[in-house]
Amino acid sequence: MLGYEEALQRVLAHAAPLPPRVLPLAEALGLAAAEDIHALEPVPPFRNAAMDGFAVRVEDAARGRLPVGGTLAAGMAHVPPLAPGTAVRIMTGAPVPPEADAVVPLEEAVAEGGEVTFLRPPRPGAHIRLPGEDIPEGGRVVPAGAVIRPAEAGVLAAIGRPTIPVRPRPRVAVLTTGNELVDAGTRPGPGQIRDANIHSLCAQVQAAGGVPLPFPRVEDTREAVAAALAAALEAADVVLTNGGISVGDFDYIKAVLEAEGAEQVFWRVAQKPGAPLGLWVLRGRPVFGIPGNPVAAMLMFEAYVRPALRSLMGYPHLHRPERTGTMAALWKRSGDPRRTEFLRVIAERSPEGLRVRLAGPQGSGILSSLVRANAIALVPEGLTSLTPGDPVRLQMLDEPEDH
Ligand code: AMP
Ligand code: MG
Repeated sequence: MLGYEEALQRVLAHAAPLPPRVLPLAEALGLAAAEDIHALEPVPPFRNAAMDGFAVRVEDAARGRLPVGGTLAAGMAHVPPLAPGTAVRIMTGAPVPPEADAVVPLEEAVAEGGEVTFLRPPRPGAHIRLPGEDIPEGGRVVPAGAVIRPAEAGVLAAIGRPTIPVRPRPRVAVLTTGNELVDAGTRPGPGQIRDANIHSLCAQVQAAGGVPLPFPRVEDTREAVAAALAAALEAADVVLTNGGISVGDFDYIKAVLEAEGAEQVFWRVAQKPGAPLGLWVLRGRPVFGIPGNPVAAMLMFEAYVRPALRSLMGYPHLHRPERTGTMAALWKRSGDPRRTEFLRVIAERSPEGLRVRLAGPQGSGILSSLVRANAIALVPEGLTSLTPGDPVRLQMLDEPEDH
């Protein structure tokens, strides 16, 4: 059976970055630039004062008292020439007269009766900002793939780019299936449970940067599954079906995908939980068949869908930060060892590193242990136990990606 690493590679091979969209800066925040952005003009565009003070010629300032000829404010379009042997009051951001070669800050000047003297002679170029000293003309300000943060938004505005081509957020249809399910706000009748996964999966989509499209719950019939799938493919870039992907009598997802002529990328992976996971491509869109057990659903999203969404968004880093922790308790595998096992764990930070213990019972219906977990531990196939002191591979859920 297909292993975790190979299945992940196949997922990513079907998650090429989405076509770029030109968005206003505010909407581009958090998204990856789709191309290199260069400055077509220098920033700042003209020589200007870096301080409130007096614009002077250095040689005049060294001579002592100077008459002050007027005031230059930021935003002035026309700057009169600086007469020899004079100073002019100038405010931060105002254009510096071409004849001046220094600005003396107010704090270093004594102005009295229309004249000014300086505490010390200025250096040539003092407190004058040069054109292009921030960003030279032609300079690359944002490389392709870089994520737009507030600083990039500011720089792009400064170079006159109120919009930028980025990889857009994928629209992700989420379809939960199961006749036993009722809404979270409904009291379940006999044999019914609440639909937890529509909420956890949509929240995961949103947290990963995508736009969740929660669909009305799908009945376990061939017709209902086919209709919902068709609607989802119309509306979304990616479709997540949940439940009905195993070998039960009322599991129709796979059968409907096959009947629709979907290309099967894989179905079933040697892993626990989430063995029945599948990926198909239909009408050019990836369709994930995610098992319905609440923990399996969330862990499969974490392991496969999240990296896929990040890849669609053109992010340079697709995966959670990985660390090696040390087991602090014994864990024994139950069942077939030829599987990757995903464990919900608490990785406690200590001076010796990350001390790892289970976050609770590991049954694939025990969702509460995911609430306590701050990491997923990956146990490779073949390993039958972890004993205290053993190293363990962790994907950290509570550390920010360094995009
Ligand atoms: P399935 O993958 O459809 O065979 O479902 C496996 C188990 O997960 C069953 O016990 C279902 O009742 C449960 N389950 C399926 N979908 C959901 C859901 N959306 N919310 C909560 N539990 C679910
Ligand atoms: Mg079901």
